[in-house]
Amino acid sequence: MEQALLDLRARLAEVSDLSRAAGVLGWDQRVTMPPRGTEARAEQLSTLGRIAHERFTDAEVGRLLDRAEPLVESQPYDSDDRSLVRVTRRDWEKARRVPTELRAEMTLQAARGHHAWVEARRTSDFASFLPYLRTNVELKRRYVECFEWSDSPYTPLLDDYEPGMLTTEVQEVFAVLRPALTELVAAAPEVDASFLHGDFPAEEQRAFAERVVRTMGFDDDAWRLDPTAHPFCTSFSNRDVRLTTRYRPDDLESVWSTMHEAGHGLYAHGIADALLRSPLHGAPSLGINESQSRTWENLVGRSRPFWEHWYAPLQEHFPALRGVELDTFVRAINRAEPGLIRVDADETTYSLHIILRFELEQELVAGTVALEDLPEIWNARMKEFLGIDVPDNAHGVLQDVHWSGGGIGYFPTYALGNVISLQIWDAVRGALPDLDDQLEGGDLLPLSEWLRDNLYALGRKLTPKETIERLTGSPVIDPAPYLAYLGDKVAALAT
Ligand code: ZN
Repeated sequence: MEQALLDLRARLAEVSDLSRAAGVLGWDQRVTMPPRGTEARAEQLSTLGRIAHERFTDAEVGRLLDRAEPLVESQPYDSDDRSLVRVTRRDWEKARRVPTELRAEMTLQAARGHHAWVEARRTSDFASFLPYLRTNVELKRRYVECFEWSDSPYTPLLDDYEPGMLTTEVQEVFAVLRPALTELVAAAPEVDASFLHGDFPAEEQRAFAERVVRTMGFDDDAWRLDPTAHPFCTSFSNRDVRLTTRYRPDDLESVWSTMHEAGHGLYAHGIADALLRSPLHGAPSLGINESQSRTWENLVGRSRPFWEHWYAPLQEHFPALRGVELDTFVRAINRAEPGLIRVDADETTYSLHIILRFELEQELVAGTVALEDLPEIWNARMKEFLGIDVPDNAHGVLQDVHWSGGGIGYFPTYALGNVISLQIWDAVRGALPDLDDQLEGGDLLPLSEWLRDNLYALGRKLTPKETIERLTGSPVIDPAPYLAYLGDKVAALAT
């Protein structure tokens, strides 16, 4: 390999190692660290983050890119080297637009905001959180000023999570979703799911979750599953994947929460070896990544074929379900029912929670809404979108962590993930005509391997749109398959 490429790769590998090391510290912080380690850990993470950022945004990376670009020009667009150079150039130019002081201030205020939010949510006290929210929103406006945008000042924030996507494109997708989802929610019948609440010992939940994950296509000794308060997934290489989950002793949510994180984990596990220790080690966007957690959680984990195989094992672990028919169980786990809390929302109502947040975020950034009015506006829109009354701010505007840390622009990726998951699922169905039989037989490997070879292995080589185009033939984010899927689901509930 040419020297310039070797030098570039060595520099990027170092930056990647620093970030993954920070990832280990972050995992430890959320899974095993005693609470009093918080302060020292914040310093350690900040130091590692700063060094990684400095090493990456350094002018030397630009010189290495200048030398490497002519060397890869004649290679195929999606070759490892040409993709590496192209994606690194884009990341590098974006990262250098933000002054170091602004970045440091954002990190500091995010930590303070988070701290204030934890307390504010506990006491349902929006007023105590307001000054921190104000600071974080103002910093985000300064951040936006570092970039050019054509359609909306929201676009640079969205771009951090969905590279290349315009706010207007999300508006178009959501404009189709909102009335269609509202109609579906109104049409959904009430379904008895009382048997999903009861006595479900955590130890049995853990045993069942691990049994399922073991069949999903991970190599042995390349993953682990630990309990935590707020489930997440991280990875330090494609052979060190950390899943976390939460076992609530009175329900079975851990089954789907674990499959969700394992979907993220399979993505990380499937990234090609050649892309490790580089900016290509990851997924093209949060929406694409989320499409896969949703695929495993919902398209697989709430499907009848999957439970044809897994219901008997579930009943072995939880005798209380032995009197519940498979049909009754499948209906209950697919029910649609408006609720207050986004993270507890079912598939049909979930995206409405997101559309509400997306609209509010644009107004926050544009400055067209007074921050002190947020709780009132929130409650009015919850009534309008989902028809429910919000009893207090802890169950309303304060429920999510995102704004406390300045994470504006993140929410839409969840709903985009839902939409994209069905677009990719259609492609999967075309490629695997026997999929339902395989799921009924408990064989998840054909699905897992197809997704690995056709999607996960690509890492960040392609943009989100290029990725969708490669899999579906069109770069457009199309809500039709998602709405058709939900329509079938609601119709099945009504029969
Ligand atoms: Zn997720």
